[in-house]
Amino acid sequence: MPWMEFEVTALWTVIVVSFLAMGMWEGARPRQPLSMAPERRWSTHLLLFMLGGGAQALVFRLSPLVLAVSVAASPWGLLNRPWLPFAVQFVAAILLLDLVRYFTHRLFHRIGFLWRIHEVHHSDADYDVSTAGRFHPLEVMGAHALYLVAILLLAPPLAAVFFAELHTALLNVFVHSNVAIPGAVERILRSVLITPDLHRLHHSANPMHHRRNFGQTFVWWDRLFGTYLPGKPAGEVLVAGVRGVPPEIGVLALVAEPFRRRS
Ligand SMILES: [Zn+2]
Repeated sequence: MPWMEFEVTALWTVIVVSFLAMGMWEGARPRQPLSMAPERRWSTHLLLFMLGGGAQALVFRLSPLVLAVSVAASPWGLLNRPWLPFAVQFVAAILLLDLVRYFTHRLFHRIGFLWRIHEVHHSDADYDVSTAGRFHPLEVMGAHALYLVAILLLAPPLAAVFFAELHTALLNVFVHSNVAIPGAVERILRSVLITPDLHRLHHSANPMHHRRNFGQTFVWWDRLFGTYLPGKPAGEVLVAGVRGVPPEIGVLALVAEPFRRRS
């Protein structure tokens, strides 16, 4: 099964190449200066990334593509209808899987304990490509579980699941990058995609901002469901982070953070 052979290699290639490319870009042309030295943050984010990926692999032992293979002939799948043209199945799968990511993200903002978990991601006081790895392991596993349920229900084409994995990984790195994209290019990009400027707003310490721009890849869900925020009010200074979590704490403290009692 060539898709499965390529899955891990392709995913890691996309993550490493996009990380290096965006890291070099933001080093050469940063959007905003960082407020603290990056070394501690970067090592914390790398450890969190490894913890989340390790926990997910250990608990689930099931990748989206492997699940898609096993449900390809499911009689209950929404998309694997023989009368549906492949192109329709493919496009619908790409859109619906991204929609699942959008609502998963909204769920992590909406429910109290899920927000405490997702708050770890938002607690970064700076915003650069390393923020793409700053996720609590419980968020990585929770989002993965919901994504697997979506694949189970949709029975999407393997090629669509493969493509969705790659563009999701690519966009996760891209939107967290501290890059200055020329205005005309950025305007074209944001007609289709979530851009770093749009997602940076989502990371604002102002709660009115971080309840906006939930999209993972496509910007259309935010536009459709009324959560799109194109920019901040003139004169307002954008500060990343959240109020409840100290910005510079280590990995173990971040993992324990959702369980910490607050006065
Ligand atoms: Zn968020």
